[in-house]
Amino acid sequence: MEIEQILQSQRDFFKTQQTKSLAFRKMYLEKLRNLIISNENIFYEAIYKDFGKSKFDTFTTEISFILNDIEYYLKNLKSLAKPQKVSTNLVNQLGKSKIHSEPFGNILVIGAWNYPYQLSLSPVIAAIAAGNCCILKPSEIAENTMKSMSMIINENFPPEYLYVYEGGIDETTELLKLKFDKIFFTGSTKVGKIVYKAAAEHLTPVVLELGGKSPAIITKNANLEIAAKRIVWGKFLNAGQTCVAPDYLLVEESIQEQFLEMLRKYIQQFKYGPDSEQYTMIINTGNFQRLINLIDKEKIYFGGNYDEEKLYIEPTILHHIDGNDQIMQEEIFGPLLPVISFKNYNTALNAILEMKKPLAAYLFTNNTEEKENFTQKLSFGGGCINDVVMHLSNDHLPFGGVGSSGIGNYHGKFGFETFSHQKAVLEKATWGEPNIKYPPYSEKKLSWIKRFL
Ligand code: NAD
Repeated sequence: MEIEQILQSQRDFFKTQQTKSLAFRKMYLEKLRNLIISNENIFYEAIYKDFGKSKFDTFTTEISFILNDIEYYLKNLKSLAKPQKVSTNLVNQLGKSKIHSEPFGNILVIGAWNYPYQLSLSPVIAAIAAGNCCILKPSEIAENTMKSMSMIINENFPPEYLYVYEGGIDETTELLKLKFDKIFFTGSTKVGKIVYKAAAEHLTPVVLELGGKSPAIITKNANLEIAAKRIVWGKFLNAGQTCVAPDYLLVEESIQEQFLEMLRKYIQQFKYGPDSEQYTMIINTGNFQRLINLIDKEKIYFGGNYDEEKLYIEPTILHHIDGNDQIMQEEIFGPLLPVISFKNYNTALNAILEMKKPLAAYLFTNNTEEKENFTQKLSFGGGCINDVVMHLSNDHLPFGGVGSSGIGNYHGKFGFETFSHQKAVLEKATWGEPNIKYPPYSEKKLSWIKRFL
């Protein structure tokens, strides 16, 4: 079937009202959970073929995430979907006011390749929990994971409700010409702009989950051991191909040498190697070439080796970096970690303020004033104090960008709200109607209204 026909069938199906029933939503959430569990090995094999990602990393950063999402919605669906009573102002007495969470209808989810299961299925789960029909277009770059999702979902879900559409740029361009009720896109800022423009043609609301250069600041007041250990883990997880990975470090000058040594120690301790369980390959030769061109050999503190055949790049730390270096001009999205030193904390914050608003920001310190300044002064999608990456694992926190790192957010109740229209309904009693607002107007009526309002 052509994708246009599938979308039309989803529009028709949505109009039947079936997806609005909580029992229907729960039935399919449970079905998806069971399919993910029973096909876990297919998912592991596919992602391993795509970029050598291990079972351990795939379970902790992908499968467990989506299973938790499903559990969250199964547990909380009733309270999330319940109309919310709010107070009614004086002029609307005698009346009752409620906010109804209503599904938008037909959703398009466009996924990225770096966490292909989580970034495709997490929004799909929120969309169906909120009562929508959905077409998912995963990233073609992680081809095997795309095929595994389309096979498992398309064989088990009615296409008029949930459908996985395989394809790359051409297919996405075609999809974007069609009218959806909401588009949820994860990917680069460049493609985000293309999606936003296409959506504007139909006045379709969008969520754009984009990237950017996410800084981590380490001051002399930090627990340096913990900071180094957590940063090495968060940066080299998925070989740095993580949207919220610390992109670059700003390290207070007085502790720089000591801190660089600690980073080196943990990289060695974690045993990241070309064939190791704990390391991932670069997704393709295009990205591999882009990344090795960012390595300034004169500035390597640690690492710098690579193997093109295996698409392996060693965890690499670069020092003596400043804002003019090539590596500071674009999001790195790979296992290269530039380190910039600073003398004054406020100058470091001001330097971040001069850049585009990042998707994430991190601060390592035990100083209260530094923590307050970080939270108050900087604008970023989300972040952590004394950790990296982990904020997105708390589904009580919204996950999304700000400015050029994105529009909108999801996870937990925020995901449900993202895929729901907040419909306001005021219900009035049919008695006790004062004549004051009705024509003909008079000075006396106006003076009463002035007292009221
Ligand atoms: P991408 O923008 O190249 O691709 C994302 C999706 O857009 C894919 O499904 C792809 O098929 C489609 N696409 C690509 N070019 C297109 C075009 N010209 N027209 C229409 N569709 C097109 O991104 P990517 O390489 O998959 O992911 C890397 C980027 O995504 C990084 O910038 C990263 O920071 C960001 N990212 C953000 C998040 C987040 O949650 N905020 C998560 C992961 C990745």
